[in-house]
Amino acid sequence: MGTAADSFWRYAGHCLADVLFPRVCGLCGSSGLEPGVDLCAGCRHTIDRARAVAFCTRCGTTVGPFGGTKDGCPACRAAHLPTAGFTRVGEFSGGLADLVRMFKFRGGEHLDRCHGDLLGRAIAQVPWFDEVDVLAAVPTCWQHRLRRRFHATSALAPHVARRAGLPLLTLLRRTKGGRHQVGLPKADRIENVKGKFTISRGVALAGAVVCLIDDVATTGATIGECARVLKRAGARRIYAAVVAHAGGLMQTPSDV
Ligand SMILES: [Zn+2]
Ligand SMILES: [Zn+2]
Repeated sequence: MGTAADSFWRYAGHCLADVLFPRVCGLCGSSGLEPGVDLCAGCRHTIDRARAVAFCTRCGTTVGPFGGTKDGCPACRAAHLPTAGFTRVGEFSGGLADLVRMFKFRGGEHLDRCHGDLLGRAIAQVPWFDEVDVLAAVPTCWQHRLRRRFHATSALAPHVARRAGLPLLTLLRRTKGGRHQVGLPKADRIENVKGKFTISRGVALAGAVVCLIDDVATTGATIGECARVLKRAGARRIYAAVVAHAGGLMQTPSDV
């Protein structure tokens, strides 16, 4: 337990850091941040609007007001899915797409906490939240880490775990790089990720319920392959949670 003097000096330290290195909104660059996120009030409102768009809780696709039921939506109802449920912050469009692009590709590495908080909150609100034993991030391969150093999902994952209050474990390894998924057609994406993931050494998953987390889902091919590997290692059920969903009924963007 810290003393009142400790709290004072910690508070003073934060104030000084904010004066020396003022944090600005990750989307528009303005100062005056909302508590808990690296966004100003206006951009927070933009993200809240993205969060309010209805989506299929089975596959994550955006649906109309009556488009999704517990059995899925027109895009997924007839399909066998490796995941038992899906949640997301929003659709990959508008302000949320800008935020994700900045985080992944435009030097917005400081936005890890902002993305993690948004996704952690989304997970904490799902009906299946109490079932989840552990979070697992979709991993990248070592070649990618060497090349770009920054991996968005790995960076946001600890913040998701803190916000949702769930443990985060390294359950999966990506063993082979292969072509990047960007720009590949759906059938090629499924083929491209097949056999690329393996269970981390020493992991025992007997009966565990895992929530996979990723920054963006497009066709769901990567999440599907990770879910398949986790189930073969004994996981009972897999859920998925992403910051932005870009696939399904929407036009597939070329830059995710
Ligand atoms: Zn802003
Ligand atoms: Zn669906």
